[in-house]
Amino acid sequence: MDMHNGINPFTCVYCNKSFTQKGALVRHVPIHTGEKPYQCDECGKRFIHHTSFNMHRLSHTGQKPYKCTICGLALISGSHLKRHTRIHTGEKSTVVKRAEDVLLRGTTCPLTRNFTIIPSRFFP
Ligand SMILES: [Zn+2]
Ligand SMILES: [Zn+2]
Ligand SMILES: [Zn+2]
Repeated sequence: MDMHNGINPFTCVYCNKSFTQKGALVRHVPIHTGEKPYQCDECGKRFIHHTSFNMHRLSHTGQKPYKCTICGLALISGSHLKRHTRIHTGEKSTVVKRAEDVLLRGTTCPLTRNFTIIPSRFFP
């Protein structure tokens, strides 16, 4: 296969959009077919992808199965957790220290409350 001709091997029969990966095409096609195989038995809302469906289900149960191992904050998805974990692992060590101070005072994670990251030079 000539990879330099710019043609992706998986092409949507509806709009001719092409994809490099089959999975991407499979996820794309329901846009045209209107197929939403996942239905919430709680509110009847339908979903194309099981990931968004799962996320939606959690909004009913209030469950947050992902827990930050560093501060214990519970989050609804792995990607939320990943984003959150960055506040602990980032190079901005001063900010992390301040974030911990906030957490010690019993509030929830600073990221979820639009915490403004203050440049470290403002701290002694
Ligand atoms: Zn298409
Ligand atoms: Zn629902
Ligand atoms: Zn955390």
